[in-house]
Amino acid sequence: MTAHSNIYPTKALQALDAAHHWHPFSDMKSLNEEGSRVITSADGVWLTDSEGNRIMDGMAGLWCVQVGHGRDEIADAVYKQMKELSYYNTFFKTTHPPVVALSEKLAKLAPAHMNKVFYCSSGSEANDTVFRMVRTYWDKVGKPEKKIIIGRWNGYHGSTLAGTSLGGMKAMHSQGDLPVQGVHHIDQPYWFGEGHEMSPEEFGIVAARKLEEAIDELGEDKIAAFIAEPIQGAGGVIVPPETYWPEIRRILKERDILFVSDEVICGFGRLGEWFGSTYYGMEPDLMPIAKGLTSGYLPMGGVIVSDRVAEGLMLSGDEFYHGYTYSGHPACAAAALANLEIMEREGLVDRVKNDIGPYLKERWLKLGEHPLVGEARMEGLVGALELVGDKKNPHKPFADVGTVGTICRDNSFKHGMVMRAVRDSMIISPPLVLSHEEADFLVTTAEKTLDDTYQDLKRDGLLG
Ligand SMILES: *Cc1c(COP(=O)(O)O)cnc(C)c1O
Repeated sequence: MTAHSNIYPTKALQALDAAHHWHPFSDMKSLNEEGSRVITSADGVWLTDSEGNRIMDGMAGLWCVQVGHGRDEIADAVYKQMKELSYYNTFFKTTHPPVVALSEKLAKLAPAHMNKVFYCSSGSEANDTVFRMVRTYWDKVGKPEKKIIIGRWNGYHGSTLAGTSLGGMKAMHSQGDLPVQGVHHIDQPYWFGEGHEMSPEEFGIVAARKLEEAIDELGEDKIAAFIAEPIQGAGGVIVPPETYWPEIRRILKERDILFVSDEVICGFGRLGEWFGSTYYGMEPDLMPIAKGLTSGYLPMGGVIVSDRVAEGLMLSGDEFYHGYTYSGHPACAAAALANLEIMEREGLVDRVKNDIGPYLKERWLKLGEHPLVGEARMEGLVGALELVGDKKNPHKPFADVGTVGTICRDNSFKHGMVMRAVRDSMIISPPLVLSHEEADFLVTTAEKTLDDTYQDLKRDGLLG
């Protein structure tokens, strides 16, 4: 068969998919029995499947399609670049115009003290780069004892060895005997799930001080870095209490360890700033990026590096023995440049801060009144609904964690919208171009989905 296959019947595509395609993060046995949904095209915030259904992409693909689907401008820029220079490496004392232009652009968008970009093809590779970079940095500045990297439970930093290890997903650690040596995890600032016996403000301080306690326990002279997402995405859109980041900031100021802000989701306007760390007033030493960098049109990731780390890595002459065949790929750089140009021209970052962000948030938070919802939260253009069986006892999880979320997600699809389920909370992260009418559709559909799910749970005796 050929790549453009909407001429094939859905069933035939599903059968071939089941026979030969191994999906990421999927229970392949049950998926193959059920059959995958075939997505054939997309435009703006809308997907079309092989049966002709239009579905709102409430997740911007996988948190990445900031400018919406089907932008000719990006496709044209990539086409033009591919005809001129489809590929060349950046290893042999060589460079090329698109990667130069993109690096200049990113240095301008990043905080003033961050001026260098190392490229790769994904967020996972970005964090593998981070892992080697922070340890090498300390070697080069003469503190080779500083090797431990502190991450957080339920953080997500990708699926490669370093990404999985830095992340705090226990189910992932259980496959492949991870984490690797020298990674330590502290608790996450998840008030609704883990801190509700205190006020959010108190809990934010307690959660932040876990970092200080870990530093004291392990020894500051042994610690290379602390890595965290400004808001944990894949972990369930965990918005930290307001006191959390200021307290972390205080601790980091007093201790000589590097701070890595994983901007793979929170970067590129998701929180109404170019970077999530700016939103929270943090000053990172390294920022892994990917996803929104190209709006997913082509795969590209990178690490934006502070002057301090860059200078450290250049000490002692020898090279940083690290790189990828596709580091700074010209076509991907062209896609990123065109994407960032659209974001700037259409003022999408400001739009999240001052227009569509507050507009959606106001309506989304009202869903918190639904009998099935224990908490609704939204920051920028990323939000979550915590589903609960008994509103009077909202922090009690469902008996079989994940079942209710899956029912709700399937109902959402039926109503024509993608919401993602994380455990038993529902997640949205729509494209930044979402219109007011589309935001209304999103909220109305979420409400219908909650109503249906509530009825399903009642019928099946699954409420608390
Ligand atoms: C998605 C994600 C990654 C991994 O990116 P991939 O491109 O999937 O490898 C890393 N960090 C965060 C915060 C992510 O959300």
